[in-house]
Amino acid sequence: MRVLRPELCAINTATLGFQTPIEETIEAVARQGFGGIAPWRREVEGKATAAIARRIREAGLAVTGYCRSTFIPASTKSDFADNIDSNRRALRDAATLGAKSFVMVVGGLPTGSKDLGAARAQVADATALLLEDARRLGVRLALEPLHPVYAAERSCLTLLSEALALADRLEPGQPAAPSLGICLDVYHVWWDPCLDRDIARGGRSNRIFGFHVCDWLVPTADVLNDRGMMGDGVIDIAAIRHSVEAAGYSDLVEVEIFSSTNWWKRPITETLRVCKERFASAC
Ligand code: ZN
Repeated sequence: MRVLRPELCAINTATLGFQTPIEETIEAVARQGFGGIAPWRREVEGKATAAIARRIREAGLAVTGYCRSTFIPASTKSDFADNIDSNRRALRDAATLGAKSFVMVVGGLPTGSKDLGAARAQVADATALLLEDARRLGVRLALEPLHPVYAAERSCLTLLSEALALADRLEPGQPAAPSLGICLDVYHVWWDPCLDRDIARGGRSNRIFGFHVCDWLVPTADVLNDRGMMGDGVIDIAAIRHSVEAAGYSDLVEVEIFSSTNWWKRPITETLRVCKERFASAC
């Protein structure tokens, strides 16, 4: 067992199955010595965001990311505008929380549509609009490409290369401190034969804003909610982390495990303890 270094690790609160209110989750994550937290909108919206932000700060935690964007593609102009507005509101909360980035899971096909190209065009248009707000608020937008199995329902953005190309197109000129980048989640990109090439490209353009870990179980019962604890599956997480850090990423590694089959049924202190151990032994 290597030395435990939980201060280099952040906990995405989805990992804990939303069993406790955010205030308790913050305390539990801090008590185990983690360095950061990534809360979800469902835990924050409708509450006093500034009070939650203060609590996180006082617990000594960084906010690695604020999860996540409202899906963008829509069948009508007014639904599209509503989706933009919803994301603008969330961006303001991300700023209040001091989040290092706002995580963009962009959405798939609108109901009834088979036009993936149109969905992608809407995502590009919306991202360009949101980028203006993000810059004004000092929040970075992190596009998170999802595994292609989600293309219809959750994300028409599936490749790291695609996300980086979109970022370069919407924010040209290779800025030293870009506002648009990517969030790299091993669950979504581990299979990509061009992974190392694209990680290096993301590093060169300073666009790697977040790094999420969990594992791909074999067999996987449910691609959405049967993700594995690091070390329980087939992803060479340590190798991917090595590539990401060699490309210049020096921020926290975020654990994000959707697991209705297993971890969400356990007490959060147990899940956090195992996350800490596996961060040392399998990442
Ligand atoms: Zn993720």
